[in-house]
Amino acid sequence: MVKSDDGRPDRKPSTRLVRVGRDEALTGPFVNPPVVHASTVLFPDTDTMLSRRQRYLYGRRGTPTSEALETAISDIEGASGTVICPSGLNAVSTALLSALSAGDEVLIVDCVYGPVRHFADTVLKRMGIDTVYFDPAIGTGIADIISERTAAVYLEAPGSLTFEMQDVPAIAGIAHDRGATVLFDNTWATPFFFKPLAAGVDLSIQAGTKYLGGHSDVNLGLVAANERHWPALKEAHGTMGLCAGPDDIYLGLRGLRTMGVRLERQMQSALTVAGWLQDRPEVARVLHPALPDDPGHALWKRDMGGACGLFSIILDGWSLDDTKSLVDGLDLFGIGASWGGFESLAILADPRKQRTAVPWAAEGPLVRLHIGLEDPGDLIADLKAGFDRIAAA
Ligand SMILES: *Cc1c(COP(=O)(O)O)cnc(C)c1O
Repeated sequence: MVKSDDGRPDRKPSTRLVRVGRDEALTGPFVNPPVVHASTVLFPDTDTMLSRRQRYLYGRRGTPTSEALETAISDIEGASGTVICPSGLNAVSTALLSALSAGDEVLIVDCVYGPVRHFADTVLKRMGIDTVYFDPAIGTGIADIISERTAAVYLEAPGSLTFEMQDVPAIAGIAHDRGATVLFDNTWATPFFFKPLAAGVDLSIQAGTKYLGGHSDVNLGLVAANERHWPALKEAHGTMGLCAGPDDIYLGLRGLRTMGVRLERQMQSALTVAGWLQDRPEVARVLHPALPDDPGHALWKRDMGGACGLFSIILDGWSLDDTKSLVDGLDLFGIGASWGGFESLAILADPRKQRTAVPWAAEGPLVRLHIGLEDPGDLIADLKAGFDRIAAA
């Protein structure tokens, strides 16, 4: 294990982001660790190879580069260990596979990231693992749907399309009483604003593709485990042969150092834009748990230290054509998947296609906005020009 230069959980999160995962034994006089491209690792003799008594054994099993990021994330999450996966979705599937066996049942929150639902409905189903989707507002009601076969409960808060919060400590407490593992997708808040393990979660998942990378140029996933679940996670990850390329891992480490300032700025800009949108007659609702009148606000305020730049709006009674035209005509908002980068994005999405436990009802089409590092005044002007254009058409 890399000796983290941090070792001071008493320090503030922004200070820790700068220090974590730095081991002078590996970096020497340099600020950053080497980017080690490796498959073969050489041993001095056969006995050393047979006894595996060496710090590094094989590229896929770990390098100074991967150890630096794993240690940094474990420190920030307060985890016993972290694995790096080639994408956020792979981090989710790896975490689920580490916790589930044939014949088990998994409970998944209905506002889950779409591709996770697809994984559960296809691969897990084929393996004889049943999925039950539940209302994000279930709270202690989770007790009523946990069965003898329930091996895991999967949460994502807020949902990254519809932004419902969930009562993580309440659900985790009940799940543990009944012997189930609790998984949480923390991509939205990131461990900078929310520590899932401290809230009772066993496996904390993060799409490093988003705010960790922060520049829309890398796919990366991370799973951090508490002491009880670390052996099973490490085993599943190693056995499936997962690893990420050293350049991508390095981009994750590089992004980590500035993640705090980017998040703080994108949170503020997003709240400015969201507040402006709340006052617009075109907008029926803004879905963002950091807004005081959001149904998830109390839970967000209790559990999370901040928010990222991602939220949605419901356009009041708008047609799909007008909504497409609004999105297509924006100048500063790109149209594309993913988020967490430095640039703003806008996408039209239909949550109705991704709901089975509670039907999605809304006053009109949903547009998800990601607020980047542009000036919020410029973004508001772009949105205003869009509304004016549709009104004039
Ligand atoms: C993007 C995303 C993922 C998947 O990350 P990829 O790197 O694109 O596979 C998982 N969960 C959430 C909430 C996401 O937004």
